Formats: sequence, C-alpha cells, structure tokens
Amino acid sequence: MADVHPNLAPLSELDLNTIYRRLDAIRGDGGNAGARFSNWARTYSCRPAAIFEPRNEDDCRLVVELGRREGKTVRAVGVGHSPSDLACTDGYLVKMGKLNQLVELQSPPLTNIPAQVNEEKKIVVSQPGITLSALRIALEPHNLALPNVGSIAAQTLAGAVATATHGSGLKDGVISSHVLSLTILLSDGSEMRCSKTDHSDLFYASLCGLGSTGIILELELSVEEKLSFKDVRFSTSFDHAVRDLEELAHSSQYTRMWWFPQTNVVQVSLSDPTSESKKPQRSWSITPLIQFHLTQFLLLLGLIFPVFNLWAGYLVSWFVRGKTVTIDEGHKIFNLDYQYLQHTLEFALPISSAPNCLRDLRTYFDKEHKNPYGLRPHFPVEIRFSEEDEIWLSPSYGRRTCWIGIAQYKPFGFDVPHEELFSNFTRILLLHDARPHWAKAHNLGPGPLRKLFPHFDDFVETVKKYDPIGMFRNEYVERHILSGS
Ligand SMILES: Cc1cc2nc3c(=O)[nH]c(=O)nc-3n(C[C@H](O)[C@H](O)[C@H](O)COP(=O)(O)OP(=O)(O)OC[C@H]3O[C@@H](n4cnc5c(N)ncnc54)[C@H](O)[C@@H]3O)c2cc1C
Repeated sequence: MADVHPNLAPLSELDLNTIYRRLDAIRGDGGNAGARFSNWARTYSCRPAAIFEPRNEDDCRLVVELGRREGKTVRAVGVGHSPSDLACTDGYLVKMGKLNQLVELQSPPLTNIPAQVNEEKKIVVSQPGITLSALRIALEPHNLALPNVGSIAAQTLAGAVATATHGSGLKDGVISSHVLSLTILLSDGSEMRCSKTDHSDLFYASLCGLGSTGIILELELSVEEKLSFKDVRFSTSFDHAVRDLEELAHSSQYTRMWWFPQTNVVQVSLSDPTSESKKPQRSWSITPLIQFHLTQFLLLLGLIFPVFNLWAGYLVSWFVRGKTVTIDEGHKIFNLDYQYLQHTLEFALPISSAPNCLRDLRTYFDKEHKNPYGLRPHFPVEIRFSEEDEIWLSPSYGRRTCWIGIAQYKPFGFDVPHEELFSNFTRILLLHDARPHWAKAHNLGPGPLRKLFPHFDDFVETVKKYDPIGMFRNEYVERHILSGS
C-alpha cells in the first residue's frame, strides 16, 4: 500500500520498551490502565486498555504499531458526543482532539492547493480533531464557512464525518458529502490518501466509516462563502405541517421542524441567506434560560409524577407559539444553545414516506398519552431534511431524506426510562423504510441493516480489505455490522 512517509525510520525496528516509553508521554489516563471513558451524555462508558492523546501523526503511528504488535484493537475518537457505545472500546482508545489544526497539503497533493485555505476554490485541508466550532472560527477571516451545520458544533470534524452527521436543509447533503479527500492511517502502518478517483472503495467506506477503516489523519473539504441568514419561525398544527411537509422542506434552503406531541403543535424554522441587516435574537432575553431550567425541573418531577411531562410539553409549546424573525450568522441560527443530557434515537427515511410515518407516530403517541399508565415521550420530535448522497453507509444514500429524531432527557443528570419507547419508535419507523443514524443507539443487527443499506456488503468487504487484522473494530461495529460476515 502507498506510504506517503517513505523516509521515516521503520517503527518495526523499535523494541517494545522504547514504544512503551514514548507512548507514556501521551497517556490520557495518567498511566492508569482501565480508566473509564464515558460519552458526553454519560449514557455509555467503557474501560479501554489505555487512553492515548496523540500530539501529532507520529504518535498515532506509534499507537497503531503497538496495537499491531500486541494484537490490540485501536479506536480513534473525537469528543465522545455519539449517543451510543460507538466510540467505546476495551482496546486502545485514541483521543484525536490535539490534532486540531488547519494543515498544508503534503506533496503530491490531490488538488493544487498551496496554503491552508484556498479561498478561490473554497477548499480547506484540516486535521481530524478540530471541532466544528474551532473550524468555523478559523474560516471566518477568509470569509468562509462550513455548509449546513447541525444542532451543535462541539463535535470533531472527523467524528462528524465518520457518522454522516447532518444539519437540515435540502440544499445540502450530510457533512461527509463535502469531503473531497481523506488521508487514512491503516492497520499495517501505511497511510493512504483516498478520494472519488483514488482508492474510491476506501473513500466511500470511510466517509461514514464509524472509525472502522482506519484513523483519519487529514480531511480535504469544500466550504462556502460565509453568509448571513434570515430565520423565520412560526407555529402551526401537526395536521398542517404534515400535509405541507414536502412543500415546507422545499420552501427554504434550511427547513427544520420541532413537533410537540403533547399539544400537536409544530414549530417550523425556515432559513435562507440574506443581505438584510442583522436582527439578532434579543441578547438580554432571559426567556430561553427560564425555558431551559423550568422545563428541566418539570421533567425531573415527571420522573415521579408522569403528568408533569405533559405540562412541560404544554409549557414549551406556549413559549414557541409566536412568530419570530432573526437575521444573523449561520452558527447563531443553526446551533442550539442549550442541550440536556439525553438518550436519543434518529432515523432517516425517504421524504415522500415522512407524512405517513409521522401520522403513524402521532397515533402511537396519542395512545400513550391517553393511557394513564402509558409512556411519556419527551419533546420535541425533531424533523429535519437533507439531500441524497452516494456514501455507502450514509442513511441518506440515494434518497432525499427526512430525519425524525426523539430524545428522552436526563433532567439534572437523572436517568429516564427510554427502552420501550425507543423500541416502539423503531418499529414504526422501520415500517416506512427508515435507516438508523449510526451515532445513535439503535438496536438493528447486520440482517436488517444489510437490506436497508444497498452497499452494506461493499462496506464489509472494504473494511476486511484495508483492516484484515480487525484492528479498528469495536463491540458496536461487531454487533451491528460485522458479526456473521
Ligand atoms: C447534543 C448533541 C447534538 C447532536 N446533534 C447532531 C445533529 O444535529 N446532527 C447529527 O447528525 N448528529 C448530531 N449529533 C451526533 C454527533 O454529531 C455524532 O455523534 C458525532 O460523531 C460526534 O462527534 P465526536 O467528535 O464526538 O465523535 P465521537 O463520538 O468521539 O466518535 C464518533 C465516531 O467517529 C469516529 N472517529 C472520530 N475521530 C476519528 C478519526 N480521526 N478517524 C477515524 N474515525 C474517527 C469514532 O471512531 C466513532 O466511530 C449530536 C450529538 C449530541 C450529543
């Protein structure tokens, strides 16, 4: 395999003690084997054999060398925001957060980009561990921005790419669809640059590769001119929102909806680029803060007295009832400020199937609400959209997509029952040809997933081809993808 660092002294000549000594400097667990790693929402955790925090690519190569010699698995992670055990491992866990710079392309580049950012072509080359918010800040002086951001910007670029993280709007595909090339450290210690034309199997597998093809060391991606957006929000009834769903999805570049099943109110957000002058959300407004804390308090009470969950739904529906117009920078419009720790599940389905699916969900939620002992779903149900793409494991592969997501929040960190609700939600979504968001804790195995993802077997073959020793597998990948293959 092509090695883009042919002049480096071969790591295979180092003895194990030298490798251990060098890696001591980057132990992220203070040398405490078995230290616990938890995801952001503290819903999943594991005890890796060791946690490393590489400062550079050489450190990554050293970890892979150690993993190969010891027969240990290696898992690159970002900031652990995946609401599942996707980032967990009992092998070596590699936190990529210190590889967080924009970089120059090394020779020979796939495209002729002389510097970190090519303003004319709107292309940037970055290390994997940069967070989306740090990337936004780095792009700002060049008047550039990431296309289509999601609800938060705390994720690392590679973490977002490896899970096909999406924002909302039919103008764009998932974040991975803006990637032009990747440089990947493979389990044999070599590095491979891949794109649509070079090693395309590795490229299409790694764009939503769940960390299982190798460690992404560098990403080349297209960005956009930085724009201001006008965001118009209004509430409508569930029936109207669902009847007009496709029309609403097409009526702005970035359409999002939040459905409150307790009241069957849907808040709609339509956002488009604008040259109008700024009209920010009132900075002195304390409404979002009150809403955040009051709702959390009601959800806490709802753990003991389920009726409070309904009241919390009524309250938030009331808060969002009016029409608002905000004009501001993209991240201030699209990123949501306050997030509760949460269990969450999301599916992607063809946009044409979404109205009937939402009606089925409504029938189900109404039934639960009418039952005094029924389950009490939290809110809102998030409804978002993205353009189709050609990434093998992307949930929006080959079809214009509507994403439907639910969350059960953990008020003040207290856990909430969610399994039965999520399994009923899954059952309904699957009736409508829906595919799971890989970062979220779905319960589908290789059998059903193979039917949902046309390139599932290509993905499996590619993982085996580039990682024949299984270095980059973890329990999640085995359970959902590789078992039985
Ligand atoms: C509050 C919240 C809001 C969210 N909002 C959205 C949203 O709006 N839209 C959406 O689609 N998702 C959303 N997510 C999900 C989130 O975008 C994904 O889980 C994302 O992967 C998190 O990035 P991370 O850096 O934390 O990656 P991690 O969770 O640490 O890792 C995720 C995957 O990326 C792989 N990975 C990380 N770095 C590398 C690397 N260098 N090389 C190879 N593989 C690597 C890991 O192995 C793992 O498989 C949200 C999650 C939370 C908690």
